[in-house]
Amino acid sequence: SKPSSFLEPSQRTAPGDLAIVLLARDTYQPITLEQSKGAVDGYAEGAVLNTRFGSFPHSTLLDVPWGSQIRASAVDTGSRGRKRRRETTGEETSTPGQETPGQDTPRQATPVKDEDDKAPTNEPAKKPIVASSGFIHLLRPTPELWTSALPHRTQVVYTPDYSYILSRIRARPGTRIIEAGAGSGSFTHASARAVYNGYPKEDGDAKGKVFSFEFNEARFHKMQEEITGHHLDGIVQIRHRDVYEDGFLVDGKSPEATAVFLDLPAPWKAIRHLSRRKRAQNGELEQDDSWTSPLDPKKSVHICTFSPCIEQVMETVTELRKQGWIEVDMVEIANRRINVVRDKVGLNAPKDKGFNTTPADVMESVSKLREVNRKTQQFHQNQPKVDVKVEAGAEQMDTDTPGTDADNGQTHSGALTEPKPWLSGRLAHRPEAEIKTHTSYLVFAVLPREWSEEEEAAALAKWPCGN
Ligand code: SAM
Repeated sequence: SKPSSFLEPSQRTAPGDLAIVLLARDTYQPITLEQSKGAVDGYAEGAVLNTRFGSFPHSTLLDVPWGSQIRASAVDTGSRGRKRRRETTGEETSTPGQETPGQDTPRQATPVKDEDDKAPTNEPAKKPIVASSGFIHLLRPTPELWTSALPHRTQVVYTPDYSYILSRIRARPGTRIIEAGAGSGSFTHASARAVYNGYPKEDGDAKGKVFSFEFNEARFHKMQEEITGHHLDGIVQIRHRDVYEDGFLVDGKSPEATAVFLDLPAPWKAIRHLSRRKRAQNGELEQDDSWTSPLDPKKSVHICTFSPCIEQVMETVTELRKQGWIEVDMVEIANRRINVVRDKVGLNAPKDKGFNTTPADVMESVSKLREVNRKTQQFHQNQPKVDVKVEAGAEQMDTDTPGTDADNGQTHSGALTEPKPWLSGRLAHRPEAEIKTHTSYLVFAVLPREWSEEEEAAALAKWPCGN
């Protein structure tokens, strides 16, 4: 079947693809693209995405390069039962600062060609599509975008945390990860991409896999639906399970995991199941030869637990120590996004609009700079030459002071070069106040592989230590 867009990206959109619609900055909507097979939901043109920026028949979202900007339907297409025709417009629709890399010619939704003015009597009632000049961008799904767009059923793990966690638990192509609970699937998608090294073949199993467990039945079913819808079956296996009681085997077999991530209210209650031998709740080894470990017997295992309170961390650390885990440490990610911009250059630019520079502001600034340069050159022609290192701010550009090429950092001597508006203005940075991350404490530990006397002797025979 079709490979997941999360794992094997295509160049263009196709029916059945999950697409992340970028509506505005940090505002996303996930949709599954549908090929029109007749009227849907009262729309003659099939499925339609309705947004506050206008209506977008899916027919206009298909077979375009990912990242394309799509214009809203420009006409009322719903009221009269007309036949539709798709057209591509060559007109420029970009707004400065909103282009997405890789975009193709922007397309306009469903301009109508009148071919038949009479509505067939058996057509369903059509909803009018309200004409709009808005647009959206169609983004290829990635785990990061899915985290921003997914329907929240629980608290989720955000990108700053999971990127660090995945590196610390050594997730790479081919790794087998155990995850509990699955929750809203944010971590599941990121880990699936990290471990992916091909789909299972008919005669064998895919090596890189995510074994996910969820106790809440409704969430389990929703997750299963999403995994199938996103073509991740075969890479992600999800089970409906209380892992505190029933552990991590899959159909009685070991997942042979080398990495574990627990995002549970009481991770310490699940740790005894992540052992190499059967252990009681108090950490004591129990004799049971039929017991199967969910871990890879030949490799060290890396674990991370994710808990919001320090009391939970203390319980977890105590349990990890009891169960033989080593190198236990705790980390908190304090992520901050820093926005680096050039400040306004125009004297009359409104100060209350943040850092956005409109084209009018730029043109005004360029003409002012030209005028300053002209006057400066005139001044220099009448003066003995001196070198001036200018530290002045943008406001000075409107004065007649010589050498005020803002803070381009240039030393002026005599003739001035053409103004460079993109280098003008003070360089400023602003930490963004609000960043979505559910702050939690991350506990990491390692369970070394077991090493017998015989293995030691065999290793020494193969690689003698020199004595
Ligand atoms: N990591 C997930 C994500 O990124 O979307 C969010 C996990 S959510 C905070 C915790 C989940 O653990 C919940 O969905 C809850 O139902 C599940 N859970 C709680 N106890 C469990 C148990 N004993 N066994 C399995 N899952 C459990």
